[in-house]
Amino acid sequence: MEKEGVEMDLNLENITLEEYEEMKHNVFLATLENVKAWARSNSLWPLTFGLACCAIEMMGSGASHYDLDRFGTFFRTSPRQSDVMIVSGTVTKKMAPVLKRLYDQMPEPKWVIAMGSCATAGGPYINSYAVVKGVDQIVPVDVYIPGCPPNPAALIYGINKLQEKIRYEARTGKRVTNR
Ligand code: SF4
Repeated sequence: MEKEGVEMDLNLENITLEEYEEMKHNVFLATLENVKAWARSNSLWPLTFGLACCAIEMMGSGASHYDLDRFGTFFRTSPRQSDVMIVSGTVTKKMAPVLKRLYDQMPEPKWVIAMGSCATAGGPYINSYAVVKGVDQIVPVDVYIPGCPPNPAALIYGINKLQEKIRYEARTGKRVTNR
C-alpha cells in the first residue's frame, strides 16, 4: 500500500478472514486533525460569562440535574484557560469592549455561543439605545441558541452542535464561520 509517496508494509491481501474480522475491532485509522478535533470537541471549557437572566439557565445546565460535565464541559473563571465563550444575556454597549477584551485573551482555537435572543439579536431590548443588537457585531459567533431564555436542554443542544461543527471542520477542511 502506498500513501503520499511512503511505502507502508501493511499487506492486507494475505490475511485470513478471521484476522480481518479481528482487525476491524483493533485497528484505528484517522488523521491527526480528526483526532485533535475529537479531543477538543469533547473537552470544551467555557468562560464563565453571564450577563443577565440567561445566565441563570446556563448555571442550571452546570448543576447536577443537567450535568454538563458529562460532555467534558467545565466552566473556567479565566479566559486564558477557556476555549469557548457562552454569551448568555444582554450585551450593553458599555460591556461590549470588556467582552471583546476577554475574547482576545482566550487562546486559539476558540469558539463563541450566543445564548438567547438578547445575545443573538438584542432580544426584548432591540430598540434600546444602550444594547448591542447581536454579539456577532463584536466577535465571530459559531452557534446561535434562540429563546428568552433558552432552557438548559437548549444550551446542551447548542454545545452538541458546536461539537459537531468542530469535527466537521476538521473532517472537511472547511471553515463554517468567518473569522
Ligand atoms: S434573552 Fe430573555 S432571558 Fe435571556 S437575557 Fe435576554 S431578556 Fe433575559
